[in-house]
Order: sequence, then structure tokens, then C-alpha cells
Amino acid sequence: MAVVKVSLLDALHEHFGFDSFKGNQEIIIKSILAGKDTFVIMPTGGGKSLCYQLPALMSPGCALIVSPLIALMKNQVDLIRSYSSKDNVAHFLNSTLTKAQTKKVRADLLAGKTKLLYVAPETLTKQENLDFFRDLQISFIAVDEAHCISEWGHDFRPEYRRLKEMIEQIADNLPIIALTATATPKVQSDIVKNLGLRNAEIFISSFNRPNLYYEIRPKRKKDQIIKEIVKFIHQHKGKSGIIYTLNRKTTEELADMLMANNIKAVAYHAGLDPATRAQRQDMFLLEDVEVIVATIAFGMGIDKPDVRFVIHYNIPKSLENYYQETGRAGRDGLEGNCICFYSYKDVQKLEHLMRDKPLSEREMGAQLINETVAYAESSVCRRKVILHYFGEKFETENCGQCDNCRNPKEKIEVKNRVAIVLKG
Ligand code: ADP
Ligand code: MG
Ligand code: ZN
Repeated sequence: MAVVKVSLLDALHEHFGFDSFKGNQEIIIKSILAGKDTFVIMPTGGGKSLCYQLPALMSPGCALIVSPLIALMKNQVDLIRSYSSKDNVAHFLNSTLTKAQTKKVRADLLAGKTKLLYVAPETLTKQENLDFFRDLQISFIAVDEAHCISEWGHDFRPEYRRLKEMIEQIADNLPIIALTATATPKVQSDIVKNLGLRNAEIFISSFNRPNLYYEIRPKRKKDQIIKEIVKFIHQHKGKSGIIYTLNRKTTEELADMLMANNIKAVAYHAGLDPATRAQRQDMFLLEDVEVIVATIAFGMGIDKPDVRFVIHYNIPKSLENYYQETGRAGRDGLEGNCICFYSYKDVQKLEHLMRDKPLSEREMGAQLINETVAYAESSVCRRKVILHYFGEKFETENCGQCDNCRNPKEKIEVKNRVAIVLKG
């Protein structure tokens, strides 16, 4: 055992220059090296990539990494190459490559020079690729962002559903490693079922973010809530923050009102052209503005470590979304304030947005919204409720970092407990 430990640490140091493993990384890597199906549930920033990168570098053959984020694949590959002296140790294969580039990737794979190949799920839907992979030695398959397989997750991708049948065409009994930052118990069982994980070793890290402060505020009249937001931002002068709103128009209105109050703010939503979006994102990252007022189109893949507050102008459509969106605060481990304004009117707005969807989808949506409403109206520790949602027990009596723990409410207080009942 001791020998293995030393050599894994040596390998970590040799390939990445790190001195120690983070969290569960070491036992996860051992499970993968033992050829077991492995399921990794770890919050964003926890260090999931290394869990498959290191064993890929240490195993004979090449590992296939399935990722939905084509835009981020190049970054990942560049990052691995930066640690290595050989450029062909990692490649990606997706629709953005030219014919010549694809040919070069295939040549490196055939020559056995490549240890990690990033692929989009679409890459695996092409029979010629599957046939090509069948002739290679594949060490294991890593399915990153595995929650994309589930309609209960926050980013469902139908092609993920076909992964299992495609993997089976590549080789028999290939070990599968699934990784996600977002596994509620429902999403978790979807992943295990759809990928057909066999006796998988499951590693769940804690989802608690002790440095985040959670608060729900009643949403009053518009001018009043603007005042509250302006006051809050002035109290956090010079700090970076995100304000999430439900619709595009509100992002613009709110950004204008903040600017009228001497706060440097920009709006961000999917209706802006890509150049404007990129420019505004950079303004936020480079701190030319303090606040970005955005729809949920903003955030995926954004890694700004010192976001000090995330304000929800409207209640989010699920607790999972809330966790992901507030999770962008305090990545550096320092202060992160998460304030959510809540009114029943906004709950109705969310319901209204689903009006044209098929009934099954609306039912699912209503259930997710109702869980968020229960969170907003609860007098229980916010952290406890959020962690419970992820299937995690939080035993601490008073977390000291949420409104309900700082100002305990009367337990019997029952307000207009609302629940969406679908019409028609
Ligand atoms: P995730 O995919 O879980 O969100 P990443 O794999 O992107 O997280 O890793 C987050 C950061 O942690 C990266 O900057 C990575 O280099 C760093 N990291 C991962 N493992 C270690 C380690 N053992 N020691 C130091 N830094 C690490
Ligand atoms: Mg990741
Ligand atoms: Zn609490």
C-alpha cells in the first residue's frame, strides 16, 4: 500500500507539479487504475479533471473523455500540454477540426502517442469514429458533466442518452468514469442507470460551501427593491457581483438604474450579439464594471475567483440552479453573499414561462419550482435545506452563515404556503 501511495504522489508531481492530492482525488484515482467503474460527485473547482487525467497518463492506451463543452476542450488540452513536453499527449476530436487536423490526430492515436482524447458526444455518434476507436487500445471512458444525461439536471443533452450504446461498440467492458458537480439523488440514479455503471465505486464530496452566506428577502415594490440593492452594493463598494434576473429586459433596466446610482454595471443576456457578450464578460472579468446584471445565460465556464455577491432578483427555477448560480460567489474561499428576493408573483412568472411546454415537462418544472418555494419559505437553516437537496446531512445546529441561523424565526410561522397546481 505504502509503495503505491508514494508512486501515485510521484506521478502527480511528475505530471502536474502538485505536491498533494485534493479531497478524494487519490482514492478515486486508485479506483480508476483498478479498472472499476467509478462515479465522482464533486463540486465545481474541486479538481475533477485530474481524477481522470492522471490515470490516463499512467495507463497503457488512450482514455476517451466525453465533454459537452466544445468551446472549453481546447483549453483543457492546452492545459495538459503545458504540463507535458509532448504536444501529442492530448488531443480533441470534434466538429471544429479541419480534415488535415483530424488526420494528424488520428495518426498520433494510431502511433500510440496520445494518452487523452477529448470528444464531444456528437463525435461518438459517427460510425466511422466508433470503428476507428475499436482498433485502438482504449484505457477507459471518462464522461465529464455526466448530469447532462438526466432531464432532472440543469443541462440535459439528449445525445448523452446514447453514450452507453456507443461505448459498447468501442469495446466490451470498458471501465467508465462518470463525473459531475451536480448530482441530486434523482440525477445520480439517472446517471448510474443510463451509463449502465457496474458496481460502481461512488465518491461523493461535500457540497457545503462554508464561506457562502445565504439570505432570502421578501420582494417588495420595484423602487424599494432597487433601493435595497443599491444600498447593498454601496456597502460592498469596489467588489464584484452578479445579479441574476428572469428576463432580458429586466437586465437592461436594472443595469441602467444601477448606473444612475453611480454603480458601474452592464447587462448580459443571450439576445446580445456574441461580440457584445464577449466584451461585457471581459469588462466584468477585468473589473471595468463592478456588477453584471444577467440572465442565466451568464456563468457557464466563468471562473472569476473573487465574486463577492450573487443577488437573485427573481427566484430561480430550481434549487439546483440556485446552488450553481450562487456557487459562482467566493470561489477563492473568502466572503460570498447570496441574496435572493422572493415573491409569489415571481413564482407565477416561472409557471407562466412553461405554459407552452408538454404536460410532463410542466409537471417536472412545477415540482422543481415548488422545492425552491419551500426553501424560500422555510425557517430551517438554508444550508441544511440546500445540502439535504443534494442528499447530504448537515448536522451543525447553527451554521451562523444564513439568515435563519442568524435571526431564528418562530417555527410555527406559516405564510401563504404556495404550490403550483398546473392549470389545463
Ligand atoms: P472541476 O472540474 O472539479 O470543477 P478542475 O478539474 O477544473 O475542477 O480543477 C480546479 C482547479 O484545481 C484547477 O485549477 C486545478 O489545476 C486545481 N487542482 C486540481 N487538483 C489539484 C491538486 N491536487 N493540487 C493543486 N491544485 C489542484
Ligand atoms: Mg470540470
Ligand atoms: Zn444556517
